Amino acid sequence: MPRGLGATLDAVLRRPARVGVYYHVAGRAIFQRRGIREWNALTRLHALTDRATPRPMAKLYFHYSTMNAGKSTLLLQAAHNYHEMGMDTYLMTADFDHRAGNGQIGSRIGLSRDADIYGSDSDLFEMIATRLSAGPVACVMVDEAQWMSKEQVWQLARAVDDLGVPVMCYGLRVDFRGELFPGSATLLALADEMREVRTICHCGKKATMVIRKGEDGQALLDGDQVQVGGNETYVSLCRRHWREEVGR
Ligand SMILES: [Zn+2]
Repeated sequence: MPRGLGATLDAVLRRPARVGVYYHVAGRAIFQRRGIREWNALTRLHALTDRATPRPMAKLYFHYSTMNAGKSTLLLQAAHNYHEMGMDTYLMTADFDHRAGNGQIGSRIGLSRDADIYGSDSDLFEMIATRLSAGPVACVMVDEAQWMSKEQVWQLARAVDDLGVPVMCYGLRVDFRGELFPGSATLLALADEMREVRTICHCGKKATMVIRKGEDGQALLDGDQVQVGGNETYVSLCRRHWREEVGR
């Protein structure tokens, strides 16, 4: 509710016919009607400073790794931590990935949480602005960030800069051909902070690459980048063992 939470609560107003709050989102003041009980609670909250609770900076973060490193688990753990501190998060995931069902972020260890879905036509800035106009969030979290278009990554950058909300993206860096995903390439260019989520190859070295195996167990050298779903056909490897598998 106070400053630094994305939507800025500017005022808590009471008029004869209207009780509500003004938020400040993307340079626009947005008025929302509220019930009298909630208005009373907001009035008290508005009077407090927000210094007591640590919050992430309004930056664009990119947490990247290869397959099966536990990115979604980390995302869900971070979201859980905010909720324990009484803060809301806004979770988004791509509709290309149906592993956990529509509108959910799931992890291989069984955690899951509801999420809004974005597609290739979605305006992520508008989605975030709409969510913030319904109430503040401590952090926006975007799973499967490799699938974003270049333009969508710029939309997230604008949300960070103009709405003042931290955005944390989680995604794969390279595909099974060793090529950057478009969303990841743009995030590597634009992110304020990048963190590698590590996993290891069978040899014990850090795995940075991934191979896709066909039904015969052989590494596939080309094909559609978008086909994700069966974890069992992807194996994360160090670069040396990736080269051995693909003969490069
Ligand atoms: Zn290796």
